Amino acid sequence: MIIVLFGAPGVGKGTVAEILCRRYGIPHVSTGDILRTHIAKKTEAGEKIREFVDAGFLVPDEIVTEVVRDRVGKTDCAKGFLLDGFPRTVEQARELDKIAAERGEKIHVFNIDVPEDVIVRRLCARRICPKCGAIYNLEFRPPKKDMLCDCCGAALAHRHDDRDEIIKVRLREYGKMTKPVLDYYGKKGMAAHASGLYSEEVINKIVGVLEKK
Ligand code: ADP
Ligand code: ZN
Repeated sequence: MIIVLFGAPGVGKGTVAEILCRRYGIPHVSTGDILRTHIAKKTEAGEKIREFVDAGFLVPDEIVTEVVRDRVGKTDCAKGFLLDGFPRTVEQARELDKIAAERGEKIHVFNIDVPEDVIVRRLCARRICPKCGAIYNLEFRPPKKDMLCDCCGAALAHRHDDRDEIIKVRLREYGKMTKPVLDYYGKKGMAAHASGLYSEEVINKIVGVLEKK
């Protein structure tokens, strides 16, 4: 089982991903998280990756594809995995088709759509735990103790790219580079819609579709 969560930045892919992965016992493969780890660990690719991520641009296909191939080749992905933030270009979608064909697995794509004004508000108020990856929102899902992670107590961080001007660039990148991926899957009849403002709503729709299959 390969699940793809598709949608603009800030539609709640990360939150939905965590819950689905726990339910189905598959790993959560977030390209954003993996790329940020490269930056934090200052790997060879990290410096180049940082330039794109900090500016809000997509990281080049060759780098991201390599990172994904490497991650899904690990043994914990043997029974399947969930992709959050990949594919983001048609080229990446073609690459994923190849990966699925090599493994003899089917891809289940879910599109999450949320109005743009909601997205901008959510991203500006988003805070993440740099230690365990938990996601908070100062407006809708604040931590219990001021600016500390409920799960591990670490100080929450505001992602550099979760700021107004960079959010605009990311949404433009989404419209230009990533939206066409939806047409790509649409033409193949592969994308199911799972929109909703609340993650419970989105999860119920996805589980409903998966359990029918
Ligand atoms: P969000 O979904 O909120 O934009 P992510 O953590 O998924 O956040 O991505 C953060 C950044 O990482 C993106 O703005 C982009 O620079 C880079 N990135 C993540 N996934 C990809 C991808 N599949 N292709 C190219 N760049 C990516
Ligand atoms: Zn934490």
